[in-house]
Amino acid sequence: MSVHDLDFITKKLNELKEQGVYRKLTVLESPSEARSIINGKKVINLSSNNYLGLANHPRLKKASLEAVEKWGVGAGAVRTIIGNMSIHEELEKRLAEFKHVEAVLTFQSGFTANAGVIAAVVDKGDVIISDELNHASIIDGCRLSRADVIRYKHSDLEDLERVINEVKDNYNTKLIITDGVFSMDGDIAKLPEIVELAEKYGCLTYVDDAHASGVLGKSGRGSADHFGLHGRVDIQIGTLSKAIGVVGGYVAGRKNLIEWLNHRGRPFLFSTAVPPSAAAACLEAINILSESTELTDKLWENSRYMKKALNDLGFNTGKSETPITPVIAGEDKLAIELSKRLFEEGVFAQSIVFPTVPRGAARVRIMVTAAHSKKDLDEAIKAFEKVGRELNLIK
Ligand SMILES: *Cc1c(COP(=O)(O)O)cnc(C)c1O
Repeated sequence: MSVHDLDFITKKLNELKEQGVYRKLTVLESPSEARSIINGKKVINLSSNNYLGLANHPRLKKASLEAVEKWGVGAGAVRTIIGNMSIHEELEKRLAEFKHVEAVLTFQSGFTANAGVIAAVVDKGDVIISDELNHASIIDGCRLSRADVIRYKHSDLEDLERVINEVKDNYNTKLIITDGVFSMDGDIAKLPEIVELAEKYGCLTYVDDAHASGVLGKSGRGSADHFGLHGRVDIQIGTLSKAIGVVGGYVAGRKNLIEWLNHRGRPFLFSTAVPPSAAAACLEAINILSESTELTDKLWENSRYMKKALNDLGFNTGKSETPITPVIAGEDKLAIELSKRLFEEGVFAQSIVFPTVPRGAARVRIMVTAAHSKKDLDEAIKAFEKVGRELNLIK
C-alpha cells in the first residue's frame, strides 16, 4: 500500500455504497431539449431546468457563434483586471432594465453569486435568518460570511417572527434569506409576508430566484415582480443557467450594493469572467423575453396541463405551485423503481431520495418546459399511468 492510493477516500466511497447513496452520472448525448438522447436512448426529458427551451434556441446559438467570431472564446482575465468586456456590461445594463432595479452585477454562476454576495454584505456582528430549506449555495455563502446564522422552519411565518424577536437588537444588520421557489417541492416563498415582517422589524431581505428567473413574474422577471414587490426586496439573486439556458448568475439591487460587490464580491474579483459568447447568448435570451410573454405563457400552460393530468390519475404532487412537480412515491426504493420503469417506457424523470428529501417522501421530480409539445406530454402521462398502476401508486 502506498500513500498515493488515497485509501481514506476509497473507504469513504465504500461507505456511500453501503448506505446506498453512491451514484453514477447520467449521460446526455444530445442537446438538452424536449426529447433528448440519454444513456443511448431517445426519451422525453422531464428533468432539465431548461424551462423555456432556450438552451438550444436558434437565436441564442446564433448570438453565441457571432460573439465567438467577434470576441474569441475567453474573457482573458478577471473582470477587475482586464476581463470586463463591453458585452458583460451590456448584459448587466439589460438585466437591470428587465428586473426594474438600479443595477445588476453578473457572476460566473448562481452558486458563486450566493457565495460572493452573502459574505460581502454581512459580517461579524450581523445575523442571517435563513429558511431551513434554502439551497446549498446559500448555506455555503452563510458559512463564508462571519455572521451568525439562525434557521427558521420552512416558510413558517410564525417561526420567522419568533426568530426575529429572539435576535432583536443583538445584531447590526439582520438579513432574511429565502429561495424564491424551492427546488424540491416547487412551492413559492411567502414573499409579501416576509417583506412585511422585515419592514416591521428593520431587517433586510434577500431572495434567491434561481428557479424563479424566467419562470415567475412577467416574462420571468422573478418573484418580486410576481408579487408586485419592486423596491422592497433588497437583494435579488438570479441565475442565467436554468431558464435562461446558458450559464451565469447575477445580483440585482441598489447601485451602492452593486458598487460594493464590485470591490468585495470575491468570486467576481478572483475568478475569470464568463466567456463573451455566454454573455451574448444571455443577452439574446433577455431580448426574447422582453419581446413577448409567449415562452413563459407556454411554460405555465404546459405545467398546468401536466399537473392536472397527474392529479386526475391520482398521483401525489405535493405542494407544488410552479413547473417543478414532484411525483411522490414514498420509500426510496419505490421512487428509484418508478424512475427506472419510466425510462424503459421512454421518459426520463430523475428520482430524488433521502437525504435530499425527507425519508418517506422520495419522489421523481419533473420539470415540464415550454419546449414540450402536447404529444410529448400526453406520451409522458401515458407512461406515468402505466407504471403508476404497476407500482400501485395509483388505482
Ligand atoms: C440552481 C440553484 C443555484 C445555482 O445556480 P447555478 O447558476 O446553476 O450555479 C442557486 N440557488 C438555487 C436556489 C438554485 O436552485
